[in-house]
Amino acid sequence: MTRSISIFGATGSIGESTFDLIQRAGGPGAYRTVAVTGAANIARLAEMARALRAEVAVTADPARLGALREALAGSGIEAAAGPEAIAEAADRPADWTMSAIVGAAGLVPGLRALRHGRTLALANKESLVTAGPLLLATAKAHGATILPVDSEHSAVFQALTGEETAAVERVIITASGGPFRDWPLERLAKATVAEAKAHPNWSMGSRISIDSASMFNKALELIETREYFGFAPDMIEAVVHPQSIVHALVGFRDGAIMAHLGPADMRHAIGFALNWPDRKSLPVARLDLAQIANLSFQAPDIERFPALRLAREVMRTRGLAGAAFNAAKEIALDQFMAGRLGFLDMAGLVEATLARLSSETGLGNAATGLEDVLNIDHLARIRATELAEAIR
Ligand code: NDP
Ligand code: MG
Repeated sequence: MTRSISIFGATGSIGESTFDLIQRAGGPGAYRTVAVTGAANIARLAEMARALRAEVAVTADPARLGALREALAGSGIEAAAGPEAIAEAADRPADWTMSAIVGAAGLVPGLRALRHGRTLALANKESLVTAGPLLLATAKAHGATILPVDSEHSAVFQALTGEETAAVERVIITASGGPFRDWPLERLAKATVAEAKAHPNWSMGSRISIDSASMFNKALELIETREYFGFAPDMIEAVVHPQSIVHALVGFRDGAIMAHLGPADMRHAIGFALNWPDRKSLPVARLDLAQIANLSFQAPDIERFPALRLAREVMRTRGLAGAAFNAAKEIALDQFMAGRLGFLDMAGLVEATLARLSSETGLGNAATGLEDVLNIDHLARIRATELAEAIR
């Protein structure tokens, strides 16, 4: 039977790579597409929906419903809009769902898709950071599988295949160090949005690119590793590896380390999740080790990249700390992108928001159901916005 798929966040960087792999596999002839979703990019969303012959296309923005309807005229494809319509699109069963919306908005559609007991390919790291226990419990309750798509986590998953988790001593995820790897503190304080967006190795959406420059992306990934694989925080490390060839390493109690190497092309991790448990040929470059010649590693600088220190705190606190951390980080990023906050102020704002919320609500001891997560997400955005006024 033809496998059915849905792509949430189809018009983004991960969405485009997913679309590319589906098209190469034979498009609508090979997969039956249930839903594709986007937000602002209506023309591309409609184009993808038509190319894949999707049942429904949904934009997150209700103001764009008219434009979407127009772009889909005569195609027989349903159009819908708004966050609830995106969640309803996830209620339509699909065998394989790509979760690639950016930010906390990806959580609810992912949770709804898990209820079908099928496969969720998870690029939206924010889901695990904000609501890891809830996501895993939902998957377990419905017999669904979550496959990591973040390259480091796909790498850890691959290195762990066939291994006993009890034999794992440590997990190391790599960080390219971003465009500011060697910048001194004084220069970092003045970094611009354009400079922060220019990632040296990976081509990604602009929000995650800036998060890479500040290492907030790596901070989210440390928390993601803790939540997805369940290893204790002190077993999880990040190491700077400028070449972005080794994505993660797993160390075992006999001293061996299994490393995962691959090109900096997200189609590897996406394709791995699409074809799992099989491995099929993928259109990614093959590594030429002699040409690469050198793989180097260095310890990350916590002083210049305080997001990594904050991640440790969140990993230890758990509870609602991840949701608060992510929401505060999203506000800090919005403010930096709008030119209202300096590059280093982002970490300062997140730290201040966490401190405020932890004295207000005791983040680590709170209940972590969906309502609790959404409430703390909301409150953290309010507090972060208030505190940003004070920092400016
Ligand atoms: P992009 O910014 O490129 O794309 C985001 C997608 O989400 C787009 O389809 C966008 O629509 C849609 N979108 C934006 N806002 C909303 C909203 N409020 N509600 C619903 N949909 C929305 O992001 P990426 O593809 O780079 O990243 C997607 C996720 O994958 C993130 O969680 C990121 O951390 C993660 N990830 C990305 C990697 C990468 O290489 N890019 C690597 C590893 C993880 P539109 O464009 O139409 O406005
Ligand atoms: Mg990653």
